[in-house]
Amino acid sequence: KKNGTVGGIDSRILVFVRLRPMAKKEKEVGSRCCVKIVNKRDVYLTEFANENDYLRLKRLRGRHFTFDASFPDSTGQHEVYTTTTAELVEAVLQGRNGSVFCYGATGAGKTYTMLGTVDNPGVMVLAIKDLFTKIRQRSCDGNHVVHLSYLEVYNETVRDLLSPGRPLVLREDKQGIVAAGITQYRAYSTDEVMALLQRGNQNRTTEPTRANETSSRSHAILQVVVEYRVKDASMNVINRVGKLSLIDLAGSERALATDQRTLRSLEGANINRSLLALSSCINALVEGKKHIPYRNSKLTQLLKDSLGGACNTVMIANISPSNLSFGETQNTLHWADRAK
Ligand code: ADP
Ligand code: MG
Repeated sequence: KKNGTVGGIDSRILVFVRLRPMAKKEKEVGSRCCVKIVNKRDVYLTEFANENDYLRLKRLRGRHFTFDASFPDSTGQHEVYTTTTAELVEAVLQGRNGSVFCYGATGAGKTYTMLGTVDNPGVMVLAIKDLFTKIRQRSCDGNHVVHLSYLEVYNETVRDLLSPGRPLVLREDKQGIVAAGITQYRAYSTDEVMALLQRGNQNRTTEPTRANETSSRSHAILQVVVEYRVKDASMNVINRVGKLSLIDLAGSERALATDQRTLRSLEGANINRSLLALSSCINALVEGKKHIPYRNSKLTQLLKDSLGGACNTVMIANISPSNLSFGETQNTLHWADRAK
């Protein structure tokens, strides 16, 4: 069933788990660590069991998981970038598409992993930095053009994070689905990018009750488009385009509680339609289905050309170590396990 191959193309999704360090607040309330990562692969959930009794946990359903790699809380941003995304950057430079998602409950470390801080930039910034390095190594003729778009899907409304204003309409053209009028920022170097993305992040929708705090229901999507010209065997110049999508997903906590229900019954129920639709698409891809239900949400429409098929898809599941988040962590690990 889980062959992960569509039309002879390996469309397997790479799934990683990243454990964040225990937060000060979590320590202060005396929470215990309930996650163990061993050999950078095995993840054990240890709330009730003896922490060191891995063998016993191996036999307990839903307590032991393995992924393409699992990052303990000491793992730095560079290692996460190199292991999860560096190959995709290479693929994009060959004219292919790819996407990297951070999935997990609010507070689990998604934004830290994707955007990071000035001192510890995350996957988005490191990917762009690496892209420019690789472009420089490849050509000195300035052939490559890099454009960045940064947008938000909130409550099934698409907004431009680089130029906030009215909602954007999705249109289908020969390139696929595009957000009409979206800012395409031409990037020449890495230096400007962190500040640009931080400003964009500040434009994400906040919950009315908690100003300054990004809404847990906001998805942020950075799209990096690389265009360049190459000569084919008969010396004709052809244009190539590769696209990398980096997505800081909405908090998974609400979606998880209702995962078993159908999208239809969730209408109006304050549930994140885009997150559920993404889950449906991923499940369909993993099961090798012919029909992938991209049309069900704005997020999946936007990512239609970057998910499945010959595209490379990477999922990073973010989790907290605290036993207070045990339920959310277990749900996230189950979800990630099904995406393999
Ligand atoms: P999310 O975006 O999933 O809601 P955040 O990325 O905002 O979660 O992380 C919550 C808090 O934990 C932030 O203060 C963040 O700086 C911190 N944090 C998350 N992951 C790490 C990490 N790997 N190392 C250090 N601090 C982290
Ligand atoms: Mg966040």
